[in-house]
Amino acid sequence: GDHIRLQFQLTLYGNGEHLMLVRDVTRVHQLEQMRKDFVANVSHELRTPLTVLTGYLETLLDNVDEVQPRWRRALQQMQQQGTRMQNLLTDLLLLARLEATDYPADNRPVAVAPLLQSIRSDAIALSAERGHRIELQADPALLLKGSEAELRSAFSNLVFNAVKYSPEGGDIRIRCWRDAEGAHLAVQDSGPGIEAKHIPRLTERFYRVDASRAANTGGTGLGLAIVKHVLLRHRARLEISSTPGKGSSFVCHFPPAQIATR
Ligand code: ADP
Repeated sequence: GDHIRLQFQLTLYGNGEHLMLVRDVTRVHQLEQMRKDFVANVSHELRTPLTVLTGYLETLLDNVDEVQPRWRRALQQMQQQGTRMQNLLTDLLLLARLEATDYPADNRPVAVAPLLQSIRSDAIALSAERGHRIELQADPALLLKGSEAELRSAFSNLVFNAVKYSPEGGDIRIRCWRDAEGAHLAVQDSGPGIEAKHIPRLTERFYRVDASRAANTGGTGLGLAIVKHVLLRHRARLEISSTPGKGSSFVCHFPPAQIATR
């Protein structure tokens, strides 16, 4: 809007003097808003032509017998890349919407256990031939205040990452519980793990530990950025810990104020 944004910084010195810095960040804020709007608009505009393209590709592949064999492989590649681009645009748009406001549109009680059960089923379908064991332990009474759609995308990004980055037959554990400090949700895997130096940067958009490995998993590079923003909007924080060669653990911590009572 038309607000002026000021940033204050107060420094206290040992001798009792102090220094106050006031900075006008109105323009910076406006530019940041323009960037977010631009990303949202571009993602939205690119979706329509892409839908038309992939629609025609699908028709061609439905009638693959009429297509010259030497073109089949090319068509399949085009369809794969089209799907990848669609996923990317969906994630970009979601991220732009998450950034647009400080708090979720919804603030209703969300039952966590059934949500995790449904994410677990999707993850099992996703890991179909790779036979992961996905164990779920969820406090059946736990309700969080917030947006079910947003929490679903955050939690499923964590669970799908665990599946994507774990080798065949890997063990994945999903747990949620509450205690005096609030509510907690943990996703643990027995995958390759992540070196400590990468951990602080994982939630940056498009940050990847291993570009070649990430390319094969079909991710968009935006998953953990989405997780971070959804959690910020729910006053929660993400704790990542990992042991290379052993596995990783992603834990979401919600303060007691985010726990709902029916
Ligand atoms: P991507 O679409 O590449 O999965 P994310 O933002 O979800 O993007 O994750 C960022 C990077 O963090 C991934 O490319 C991968 O290198 C690393 N990563 C995320 N989850 C895991 C995990 N469970 N085990 C190992 N590495 C992971």
